[in-house]
Amino acid sequence: MGKVLIIGAGGVGTVVAHKVAQNPDVFTEIMIASRTKSKCDAVVKAIGNPAIKTARVDADNVDELVALFNSFKPEIVINVALPYQDLTIMEACLKSGVNYLDTANYEPKDVAHFEYSWQWAYKKRFEDAGLTAILGCGFDPGVSGVYTAYAAKHYFDEIQYLDIVDCNAGNHHKAFATNFNPEINIREITQNGRYYENNEWITTQPLEIHKDLTYPNIGPRDSYLLYHEELESLVKNFPTIKRARFWMTFGQEYLTHLRVIQNIGMARIDEVDYNGVKIVPLQFLKAVLPNPQDLGENYEGETSIGCRIRGLKDGKERTYYVYNNCSHQEAYKETGMQGVSYTTGVPAMIGAMMFLKGIWKKPGVWNVEEFNPDPFMEQLNKQGLPWHEVIDGDLEL
Ligand code: NDP
Repeated sequence: MGKVLIIGAGGVGTVVAHKVAQNPDVFTEIMIASRTKSKCDAVVKAIGNPAIKTARVDADNVDELVALFNSFKPEIVINVALPYQDLTIMEACLKSGVNYLDTANYEPKDVAHFEYSWQWAYKKRFEDAGLTAILGCGFDPGVSGVYTAYAAKHYFDEIQYLDIVDCNAGNHHKAFATNFNPEINIREITQNGRYYENNEWITTQPLEIHKDLTYPNIGPRDSYLLYHEELESLVKNFPTIKRARFWMTFGQEYLTHLRVIQNIGMARIDEVDYNGVKIVPLQFLKAVLPNPQDLGENYEGETSIGCRIRGLKDGKERTYYVYNNCSHQEAYKETGMQGVSYTTGVPAMIGAMMFLKGIWKKPGVWNVEEFNPDPFMEQLNKQGLPWHEVIDGDLEL
C-alpha cells in the first residue's frame, strides 16, 4: 500500500519499526533513518528483515532531509526523533511532497516550552500542498485524543470534565531512570503544572497538586497534575469542556532524585563552560543515565493510561473511563523495548496505517482527535493495545 520512512532509532523508533514490519500488507517498503546509522542497522537486525533500508540523516538539516526524501520517496514520514526536529522535518516534507506524522509537539532547544502554535502555523501550507500532517500520535498525546473523540462520538452529547490519567506501575530495578528520552522527560516534569478550567489556564507550581488515584489491576498510586500538550488541542476541539487536567504517577524515590538533580543544577538547559568546553548539564546527564532502550529486560509491572470523562447524554450526567494496561514484559518480548516505548510506537504505526489506507487523509495539519476514531480504536485492539471501558463508575475526580 505504501512506503514509509521512520526518523529516529531510539526506544520509540524501534517499536515503530517492529510494528510497521508486522503489517506488510500496509507498509510495502520501509526505511529507518537516524543520526547514528548503526542504531538503525541494529533495529533491522533485531527485526530480522533485511529488506528494511537504513540511512543516516541529521534531521536538524532541511537540505539533508530533502535529499533523503527525494531519493527514497516515502509517502509518509513517521517522526520519532526528538521534538526539536519537528519543524525541520515538516519543512522538508513540504519541499518534497511527503506526508507527516509525529508523537510530540515542537519544542525549541533553548527554552523548555512546548505548544502547538508553531506546528499549527503550517496548516495552510500543508493544505495548499495537498499534504496531511498528523500531530501527536503516540499514547499521550495520541490515544488520549482518540479516546476522547471516541467518547464524544459514542457516549456523550457534551463532554464537560476530562482527566487524562497516566500510571506507570512498573519497576525497572534502577535507582533512577527515565522511560523515554531523559532530556525531554525531565524538561516536561520540572515545568509548572497547568490545567484548564472555565475558559482559563491555571498555573501551579511544578508537581504542586497530587492525589491518590486507583488504577485498574494496579491499585492506588499518588498522581501528580502536570501540563501536557494534548490539553491545548482537546479544549479547542471539544469546546464544551469546562475542565481538563492531566495526571501522572511518580514514586517518592523518583521525585527525590529529580529534586536533587534540580538542586545541584544538573537539570539546567543553558550552556556552561567546563574546562573550555561548552556543555548543557541536562544533555550531559542524559549521557550518564541509563538508556531508556536498555530498561526492558528487567522491567516488571504495567502501565495504565486512560481518560476519565464526565458529561451529559440525553440530559443526564454520565461518566466514562476508557483505558489500556500494557505489560512491560510483554512489550519487551515482542519488540525488545519497555512498555512506555511500546505504548508510543504502536499508535504511531496505527496513525500511519490510517493515512495509507486513506482513512485519515486530509490536507492540512491536524491533531488526532480531528479524525474518525473508530478504525483507530479497532486497530488498537488488534495491534497490542486493547482497551477497556467503565460506564457510570466512580471517577474519583
Ligand atoms: P530516544 O532519545 O530514545 O530516541 C531519539 C532518536 O532520535 C535517537 O535515535 C536519536 O539519535 C534520534 N535523533 C535525535 N536527534 C536527531 C537528529 N538531529 N537527526 C536525526 N536523528 C536524531 O527517544 P524516544 O525514542 O524515547 O522518544 C522519541 C520521541 O517520542 C520523542 O519525541 C518523545 O518526546 C516522543 N514520545 C512521545 C510519547 C507519547 O506518548 N506521545 C511518549 C514517549 C515519547 P541518536 O541515537 O544518534 O541520539
